[in-house]
Amino acid sequence: MSKVIIIGGGVSGLAAGIYAQMSGLESEIFEGHSVIGGQCTSWKRKGFHIDNCVHWMTGTSPNKEIHQVWKDVGVIGEGCKMIEHEYFMQVDFDGVKGHAWRDLNKMESELLSIAPDDKELIHSLIKAIRNFQCIELPALKPKEQMGFFDNMKLLWKMRKAIPVAVKYGKMTIGDLAQQFKSPVIRQMIHNYVPETYFAISTLYMYANFAAGNADLPLGGSDSITLKMRDRYLQLGGKISTKKKAVSIDVEGTRCTKVNFEDGTSVMTEDLICATDISVTFKLIGEKYIDDHFKYCYDNPDKYPLFSNMNVYFAVDVPTDEIPNMEIFNCEPYTVAGRDVNIVIVNNFADQPGFAPKEREFWRF
Ligand SMILES: Cc1cc2nc3c(=O)[nH]c(=O)nc-3n(C[C@H](O)[C@H](O)[C@H](O)COP(=O)(O)OP(=O)(O)OC[C@H]3O[C@@H](n4cnc5c(N)ncnc54)[C@H](O)[C@@H]3O)c2cc1C
Repeated sequence: MSKVIIIGGGVSGLAAGIYAQMSGLESEIFEGHSVIGGQCTSWKRKGFHIDNCVHWMTGTSPNKEIHQVWKDVGVIGEGCKMIEHEYFMQVDFDGVKGHAWRDLNKMESELLSIAPDDKELIHSLIKAIRNFQCIELPALKPKEQMGFFDNMKLLWKMRKAIPVAVKYGKMTIGDLAQQFKSPVIRQMIHNYVPETYFAISTLYMYANFAAGNADLPLGGSDSITLKMRDRYLQLGGKISTKKKAVSIDVEGTRCTKVNFEDGTSVMTEDLICATDISVTFKLIGEKYIDDHFKYCYDNPDKYPLFSNMNVYFAVDVPTDEIPNMEIFNCEPYTVAGRDVNIVIVNNFADQPGFAPKEREFWRF
C-alpha cells in the first residue's frame, strides 16, 4: 500500500495523519507554510503571546462523541486543563449589561429583569437553547458506515432538538434578533455571528457552552496544534513544511501525483487534501467542482463569505475587571466599506504567560 499523502498541516490534516498512523498506515503531511497549525495559530511578539484563534473548543464534554476524537488526537488527556468561564460573553449596551451565562436559569432571570416586555420570547429562547444541548455531532463512525439503527439512535438522542430545528430552522440570526424589543438581547443574538447566518447557529453555540461542551483549553490554540503535532510524530508520522502543493495529477478517477512549488513531486494512490475546499479545486482542476459548490461560488450574494479583523493591544492591568469577552456599542466606524457600531473585546488574563507581569492583553 502506498503512503497516505496529506496536503495541509492544520487541525484537519494533523487529525487525518494521526488516524492514518493509528490505522497502521504510513503517512506524510505536506504543509505549505513554515509552521503547522493553519488557522489555529498563535505567535510571539515583544513578550506577548498572540493567540489568533480558539475562543472555544467543541467537544470538551465527555458526554459528546467528539470528545473521544480530541482524546485520540492527544488534545484532551492527562495534564490538559480547560478554562470554564461562567459566561460566554458580556454585552454592554448604553450601560445595561447582559450575560450569556453557562447557568441558563441565571441567564433567564437576568434577561427577564432587563427586558420584562420580552418575557415570552425570553422563555422560548432559553427553552430552545436548553433543548439544543442534546445535539450530537456523530464522530465515532463515518457517516457512510452508519446504518439504520445508528441513525435511529442518533435521532432519539437528539429528539428534543427537533422542534427547535423546525421552529428556528429557516430563521436568520437577524430575524430572531429583531423579534426582541430589548437592544441588549438583540446585541446578544446578532453581534457575534453574521446576522444572515441561520439562527440555529447561535442557539447551538450557546447550547454547547451551557452544556460544558465548548470550553477553552489552557494554552489556547497552541495547546491544540502542538499536542496534535507531537501525537502524530510519536505515532511515526512525518511532517514536511514549506511544501506548497501547486497541482495534483489525476488519472481517471484517481489522484496519482502531487506537484510542489519547489519543483519536487510525490507519487501517491492515497491522498487527503486537508486544505480549504477552494484550494483543493484549484489543485485538481475546476472541472471537478460539483454543481452545488459551483452554484455557491457563482452566487456570492446568496452565499457571502465573512471575515473579521483582529487588533491586539497591550494594556496595564486595569482596576476594573474586564471579562473574557465583552461586546459594547460605539460610534459607527467603517471597515472595508461596512459600517460597524460595535466593538468586541477579548481579554486573555486567564491564560497564564500570554502577557508579561502587570500587563494585560486585549483583542479588539
Ligand atoms: C480568527 C479565527 C478564530 C477562530 N475561532 C475558533 C474557535 O473559537 N473555535 C473553533 O472551533 N474554531 C475556530 N475557528 C475555526 C478553526 O480555526 C478552523 O475551522 C480550523 O482551524 C480549520 O482547520 P483546517 O485544518 O480544516 O484548515 P486550515 O487551518 O485552513 O488548514 C489548512 C492548512 O493547509 C495549508 N495549505 C493551504 N494550501 C496549501 C497548499 N497548496 N499546499 C500545502 N499546504 C497548504 C495551510 O497553510 C494550512 O496550514 C477560528 C478561525 C479563525 C480564523
